[in-house]
Amino acid sequence: MTVATRFAPSPTGLLHLGHAYSALLAYEAARSAGGRFILRIEDIDTGRCREEFVAAIEEDLGWLGLEWERPVRRQSEHMADYRAALDRLEDMGLLYRCFLSRRELDAALSAPHYQPMQGPEGPVVVDTDRLMPAGERAERLASGEPFALRLRMAAAIERVGPVVWTDDRHGEQVATPEVFGDVVLARKDTPTSYHLAVVVDDALQGVNRIVRGEDLFQATHVHRLLQALLGFESPIYSHHPLLTDARGRRYAKRDRSLTLQELRKAGRISADIRTMVGL
Ligand code: GLU
Repeated sequence: MTVATRFAPSPTGLLHLGHAYSALLAYEAARSAGGRFILRIEDIDTGRCREEFVAAIEEDLGWLGLEWERPVRRQSEHMADYRAALDRLEDMGLLYRCFLSRRELDAALSAPHYQPMQGPEGPVVVDTDRLMPAGERAERLASGEPFALRLRMAAAIERVGPVVWTDDRHGEQVATPEVFGDVVLARKDTPTSYHLAVVVDDALQGVNRIVRGEDLFQATHVHRLLQALLGFESPIYSHHPLLTDARGRRYAKRDRSLTLQELRKAGRISADIRTMVGL
């Protein structure tokens, strides 16, 4: 089977050394196997994504010496694909509407009788529809109020049974998506979510090897569940450690001086970047 990897940045800032490390690892994993390398622009968050960063990403990756398949898939252009996946989950009876605003949810969660566990994305919320009387839900729906779509986690897990995945750095993993609670799969402002879009895209693009940072390790629990529900094959994962600066801090978009653009302006060449990230 042809290996297919991808680098999937969100165009919300300039790429820094941490991105270069991740992109180079994904690229080398494809190249060394004679496989495919995909660049995907994850721009569902239209409020935070900017066109100039899309251009900068392509410029930086080209400068690094990477080559990728064209055309480049942009998530914002494929909402129909995410809708189709939501329809399938809806047909399985696994989605429900959540009208609660962040503030309403926080208020409900701080009620003394409701003591949610903490999960990787905050409090583990389940059955948020039951926090609102049916009459109020019907009224809000009738008045056209936006809602999020949440996955009924317990029912979803019951439907597919235990799900596993292989991480070539961390070994065999048994997915425990329940720690995420009823994840949001379509947001109020965007008719999809990161989790859904990434799973659908990886399947549609034939990505079978996912090389990405350890900060997304936990998210894989949810991704594996969604893959199992939607009948997608499990890719092999490789969650790499996150690069840190001399002070042990993770590189972040705030570190302007370590963006690839700044390093290039300072006279660095792409071979320097490989050395700086230890490749
Ligand atoms: N778009 C995500 C990010 O910028 C990465 C998605 C992924 O690798 O699954 O962090």
